[in-house]
Amino acid sequence: MRIAIGSIMQEVNSFNRVPTTLDDFEMQGISYGEEIIERFTDASFSEVAGFIKAAERHRDIQLVPTIWAYAIPGGPCDEETYQFLRTRTLSELKSKGKLDGILLAFHGSMSAIGEPDVEGVILEDIRAAYGDDMPVVISLDHHANVSRRMIHHVNALAAYKTQPHIDQVETGAKAAAIMYAAVKNMCAPVVRCRRIPMIAAGNMLTKGGPLGEFYEQAAAMESEKKVLDVSVCPGFPWADNPELGWCVAVTTDNEPELAQDMADRLAADIWKSRARFVKAEDKKSPAQAVVMALKTKGGPIVFSDAADSPNSGAPGDSTAILKELLGKELGGYALLSIVDPESVGSCIEAGIGNEITLSVGGKRDNINKPVQVTGTVKTISDGRYLTYETGHKRLTMNMKRIAVLEVGDIFILLSESRGLGHIPDLYRSLGLEPAEAKIVVVKSPYLFREFYDPFAKEIILVDAPGLRSSNFASIAELYGTPPRPIYPLDMDVEFSCSGRTVS
Ligand SMILES: [Zn+2]
Repeated sequence: MRIAIGSIMQEVNSFNRVPTTLDDFEMQGISYGEEIIERFTDASFSEVAGFIKAAERHRDIQLVPTIWAYAIPGGPCDEETYQFLRTRTLSELKSKGKLDGILLAFHGSMSAIGEPDVEGVILEDIRAAYGDDMPVVISLDHHANVSRRMIHHVNALAAYKTQPHIDQVETGAKAAAIMYAAVKNMCAPVVRCRRIPMIAAGNMLTKGGPLGEFYEQAAAMESEKKVLDVSVCPGFPWADNPELGWCVAVTTDNEPELAQDMADRLAADIWKSRARFVKAEDKKSPAQAVVMALKTKGGPIVFSDAADSPNSGAPGDSTAILKELLGKELGGYALLSIVDPESVGSCIEAGIGNEITLSVGGKRDNINKPVQVTGTVKTISDGRYLTYETGHKRLTMNMKRIAVLEVGDIFILLSESRGLGHIPDLYRSLGLEPAEAKIVVVKSPYLFREFYDPFAKEIILVDAPGLRSSNFASIAELYGTPPRPIYPLDMDVEFSCSGRTVS
């Protein structure tokens, strides 16, 4: 049995006006054919590793690797990138001859300029090329905005069940196990879903929150006869997507009614708990956060600026916290990062050790404004370093050129491109030690905790304005085409499952 495997992945924040380009995918190295097997056999973080691992138990399954492409979260793909990924996925499949199944790892919330459902289009292409009899199974990040088109064109799907995500290998193995059983006629997977008209950004960690409870409920449902997978996808809220929102997808062994009934039951329970997902977090304004930090003895005080998190595709050039830090006696140094290619160029032109006055940040959205600073160029770097993300996923970071500008007690890391906001290597790669700072700004909602908790004196969640704000009211006007009404952008929303209204 010849099963094609591949992966195309990116989480897209469609409010970000800076498009994702092929460069962003090439940064992690696009892999083809056997290189994929070499790269992911025994890897501890990838769905593809799960595909490979699950195949080891089936001597009659031959994996046919096609394409693997990943970019860190960002704005919608530009036309060239979208068309490349779309056509190359299909041409790689076509070049492999006869196939018995197609198994792909997607994110599920990838969009391009003018196309909100990239994965749905790729699946539609595959279905058009191979027909209804070809088994097609996908794995998804649970931040997928699962579209009707995706569901329509797959035989089964399996999504992550952990937040932060640490079950990529297991999810891949699960999707693969369904595929391998299906091609050997040991099961006939069918998937049904129930979409829920809500988005959420609060209480989304698996441990100790309502999401974890629903994953437990999903796991209990999965142990029932004929049930192959129960996936709860809370979706990715920062997307102007007509199919934005939560989705429960259930795959059964040829029991479509059971699948629909389970999806409906779980969706209804989640809907009843909707208020638990918009529970206000204890957040401080940038000004309040700075006052609190200065009243605290010692450090580091870690400011979480989730609204500008590049990990969720935000532009990374917010100036909201910088504005509040400027001109203050901090009693130690502060570290913060701003994406600003223009300013990097000016710093490099000025040269190390020289003073320069610049208007930094606030150029990539209509929310933040540039701030004028005068400082000394401290460091210039090529912005490349190796790091390990949550789940020990090794990543090659290339933030393009970086200049560190020293402005009083503040070290501003100016970069031409975005990095990941939660990893201290961002600063350490430039000789700046977060553990010794008075204040460190991390552009990350929660992933930073794994790295910063061990040495943070205090953590302050900052409610700064930005394109990944979990204060949905502050970004409501950015949503043009989501299905309305949708909770909590709208409070008066009716939700019905199989003709029954759920309150
Ligand atoms: Zn995710």
